[in-house]
Amino acid sequence: MRQIDHFLNGQTVPATSGRTSPVYDPCTGAIQAQVGLASLDDIEQAVALAQAAQPAWAALNPQRRARVMFEFKRLIERDMDKLAFVLSAEHGKVIADSKGDIQRGLEVIEFVCGVPHLQKGDYTEGAGPGIDVYSMRQPLGVVAGITPFNFPAMIPLWMAGPALATGNAFILKPSERDPSVPNMLAELFLEAGGPLGVFNVVHGDKVAVDALLDHPAIKAVSFVGSSDIANYVYQRGAAAGKRMQCMGGAKNHGIVLPDADFDQVVSDILGAAYGSAGERCMALPVVVPVGEKTADELRERLIRGIAGLKVGVSTDPQAHYGPVVSAQHKARIEAYIQMGVDEGADLVLDGRGFTLPGHEEGFFLAPTFFDRVTPAMKTYQDEIFGPVLQMVRAASVEEAIALASDHPYGNGVAMFTRNGAAARAFAAQVQVGMVGINVPIPVPVAYHSFGGWKRSGFGDLNQYGMDGIRFFTRTKTVTQRWPDTADGVIDQSFVIPTMR
Ligand code: NAD
Repeated sequence: MRQIDHFLNGQTVPATSGRTSPVYDPCTGAIQAQVGLASLDDIEQAVALAQAAQPAWAALNPQRRARVMFEFKRLIERDMDKLAFVLSAEHGKVIADSKGDIQRGLEVIEFVCGVPHLQKGDYTEGAGPGIDVYSMRQPLGVVAGITPFNFPAMIPLWMAGPALATGNAFILKPSERDPSVPNMLAELFLEAGGPLGVFNVVHGDKVAVDALLDHPAIKAVSFVGSSDIANYVYQRGAAAGKRMQCMGGAKNHGIVLPDADFDQVVSDILGAAYGSAGERCMALPVVVPVGEKTADELRERLIRGIAGLKVGVSTDPQAHYGPVVSAQHKARIEAYIQMGVDEGADLVLDGRGFTLPGHEEGFFLAPTFFDRVTPAMKTYQDEIFGPVLQMVRAASVEEAIALASDHPYGNGVAMFTRNGAAARAFAAQVQVGMVGINVPIPVPVAYHSFGGWKRSGFGDLNQYGMDGIRFFTRTKTVTQRWPDTADGVIDQSFVIPTMR
C-alpha cells in the first residue's frame, strides 16, 4: 500500500503517531494509499523547522521573494497536467475541473508576484513640526493553513501565496482525504527557489489541528471547511491569541426573475448545481424562481437539461461530473434525499441507485432535483454538498431576496435578470458576502477577495486579495523626529501629545 508522508524541510517524513487514514479512489471505491496522521511531536518538528527558516526568508528583499513566486507560478503551469491527474484521482472531480481548481489557485500566486508593491507601507512627511510618520507591513512569523477536501490546490494556494510572499513560514494541514497535491505544491515551491523549511506540509486530523491551534509559536491560522468546525477552530485559535480567518459552509441561492434569459439560466444552474458533484462551497444548490409561471417553465427546462448530463469517471472528457469523495459522504447525501421526501418536498428526479457500469463500487450519484422545497425544511437549511438541486418557489422578488438574506449561511448568491434596477437593489440589500448578477458562481478574482457572511465566515478578513496581504502581515507605525537641540530649547510635556 502506498504511504503518503508529511513534507518537511524539503523531504518526505513519515508520521510518528502510528495512525493512518485511507485515501480512496472515488471512481472505483478502492483504497489507493494511506496517509500518515501527525502526532504532537510531528507538529513540534514542523513548527521548529518553520521558526528556524522564517527570519532569513523575511529578511530577503521583497523583489527576491517575488521572483520565487514568479518561478513557483511557472512550475505549477509546467506541471498542470500531472497535478490535475493526481487531484482527480484522489478527489474524483473531472480533469478539466481539476485544472480549474489549480488555475484559480495559480491566479493568487500571480497576484502575489506583485508583493513588493502590495506590502509597501505608507509615509507622511511633516505630520507635525519636524515629524514624519511611516508604517511597515511586517510578516507575522510562522502561520498555518487548514484546508478542506474539495479544492486541494486552490485553497492551499489562496493561503500559501500571501503568507509566503509577505515573508512568513507557512505550515499547511490539508484535508486527509486528498493529501497528495499539497505535497506536490510544497515541492514545487522548493524547486522555485523557496528556502528549506519555509513551506511545510503536515497531514493529520483533529490532533494535528488542535496542536496547531494551541501552539504559541503559530501567530495566525487560516481555515476553510464546514461551519461547525470553522466556528470551533475560530474560537480555539482566538482564545490562544491568534489571528484567525475561518471560512465555513454554504447554501447558495440562484434567484430567477421572469425576464431572465432562460436558456442561459438553465445552462448556468446545471453547471453550478451539479459541477464537481455539487461539492463546491460556491455551488448553486437552491434555485428560487419568482412567480409560478417562471417556476413551471424553469422546472420543465431543468428536467430536460438534467436528462442530458453525463456522470462518469474523472478521466472521461465527456463527463459533466464524477463521483463524490467517499462512501460515507455518498450515504449522507442519500440520507438527505430521503429526508427531503419525508419532509414533503416534491422529488422530481432521484439520483440514488445509480451505478456506472464497470465502476459499481465507485461513489457515484445521478442528479437529484426537488421542487416545492420550503424554508421550514431541514434539507433546505442544511448544506447537503452533493448533486442535489432544490427549487424554492417565491411569490415576489422581495420574498426571494429575503430567503437568501435570512438563511443561516451567507457565502454566495446570484440573481438572473435583464432588469438592471432590480439587480442593483438586490446587490445592495442582500445579506450575503459574494453576489453574482447573471453570474452563477461569483468567486471573486485574485485581486479582490473571497469571503462569506453569517455561518459561512468567522473572523473579519477575507481570503486573498489585499485582505490576504493584511491577514498575513501586521502594521508597525513609526513616528519620528530629529530634533535640533542646538538652540537649547528642550521640549517637555505631561499632556498626551496633540496636534496644536
Ligand atoms: P471539514 O470541515 O470536514 O474539514 C476541513 C478541515 O478541518 C480538514 O483539514 C479536516 O482535517 C479538519 N477537521 C475535520 N474535523 C475536525 C475536527 N473535529 N477538529 C479539527 N479539525 C477538523 O470540511 P470538508 O468536508 O473537508 O470540506 C467541505 C466543507 O468545506 C463544506 O462545508 C464546504 O462548504 C466548505 N468549504 C468552504 C469554503 C469557503 O471558502 N467558504 C470553500 C471550500 C469548502
